Amino acid sequence: MTPDELRAKIRALMASGDLPIEPPSIERRGSREARVLYAIPSSEPCTICGEPGPQVVLFYMAGLVVRLHAACDALWQQERPGAPDSHDRATGAS
Ligand SMILES: [Zn+2]
Repeated sequence: MTPDELRAKIRALMASGDLPIEPPSIERRGSREARVLYAIPSSEPCTICGEPGPQVVLFYMAGLVVRLHAACDALWQQERPGAPDSHDRATGAS
């Protein structure tokens, strides 16, 4: 996939709720996101591009697990409304 195709996929996944717009519900001191960096590739495919070997796994309280490649995660951060470092919650489109 090209970056443009990945961005389109990310927007579609956010629209369908497969990629949560709001930060994970689990709060950790110093970070609002519960992230686990796997040392070995997961057997599950990347949520965004569908390719194997995602390195980033995010756990949400609702039981949703999002698995991403580092590159896909970086694109998601860019496409996400509301920068996660300056707002407590993303409240949707303004
Ligand atoms: Zn990916």
